[in-house]
Amino acid sequence: MNYRHAFHAGNHADVLKHIVLLAICDALLAKPAAVFALDTHAGRGLYRLDDAQALRTGEAAAGVLRLLEDPPRHPLIARYLEALQACRTAHGDTSYPGSPWLLAHALRSHDRIATCELHPGEAAELKAVFGGDPRVAVHARDGYDAVRALLPPRGPEARIHRGLVLVDPPYEAQLEEFDTVVAAARDGLARWPQACWAIWYPIKRRRALHPFLRRIPGLPAKSALVAELLVRPDDSPLRMNGSGMLLLNPPWQLDARLASVLPLLAGRLGEPGASWRLDWLRSPP
Ligand code: SAM
Repeated sequence: MNYRHAFHAGNHADVLKHIVLLAICDALLAKPAAVFALDTHAGRGLYRLDDAQALRTGEAAAGVLRLLEDPPRHPLIARYLEALQACRTAHGDTSYPGSPWLLAHALRSHDRIATCELHPGEAAELKAVFGGDPRVAVHARDGYDAVRALLPPRGPEARIHRGLVLVDPPYEAQLEEFDTVVAAARDGLARWPQACWAIWYPIKRRRALHPFLRRIPGLPAKSALVAELLVRPDDSPLRMNGSGMLLLNPPWQLDARLASVLPLLAGRLGEPGASWRLDWLRSPP
């Protein structure tokens, strides 16, 4: 448990993840029925891009800050920057929203959000951010255990039939984490088949992902889409060259929206050799 997201907040992987997350939320909100969102690896919820951790890596400079300098025109980018601005209006000009903050920003008063964070210090920060929001439950617990414990939604939330599960682990023990993610998705989809799952993964060398992605069509999801952003060629196993979002049961037409935004992100955030990929691993029925 050495990973702290404060070192990486607002980097190119966060930009991809948070743009896709907001796009999924907005698609779910197209219908009035309530939504339940489970964020299995929530982090602390709110970051500062001028704190010592963020400044030590400077990763946001090549991510959200570069995007802000000259944002390409696209509705999904505009939506993300609108949420960033709302966060900055509420928390100061150098703040950056984590996934729980974005969920709370995007979702409505009758929607519900469960967030899980295993690190006690990060969980305490998360509780402080959402102490006054009755829609958000903060669980200082293992996010994979929460898939078993919280899906399908129970108690007052049992009335909710539409949902989203965000899985954003640190991949500290790379190969084991991929196995754990696949097992959690298999179990969670069996428990609550209609949910949309958004699973983030890092890319060093893309071919190292083949064993993981080959297993995805075997999951009990109706459809599976991958959206990847490589900011440089995937030729070094020593650094994160890009990242991907694996989307199980993605909302209708999300693929078309991502197809138009990914080239813009690769163009704006990428170095020479940047690329993107959008592929169905299982096509919708
Ligand atoms: N989703 C966050 C966002 O987009 O703002 C960032 C999350 S960060 C990549 C991963 C977080 O998962 C870390 O804060 C780490 O402490 C936490 N974590 C690690 N293992 C966990 C587990 N098994 N269950 C819940 N949280 C875990």
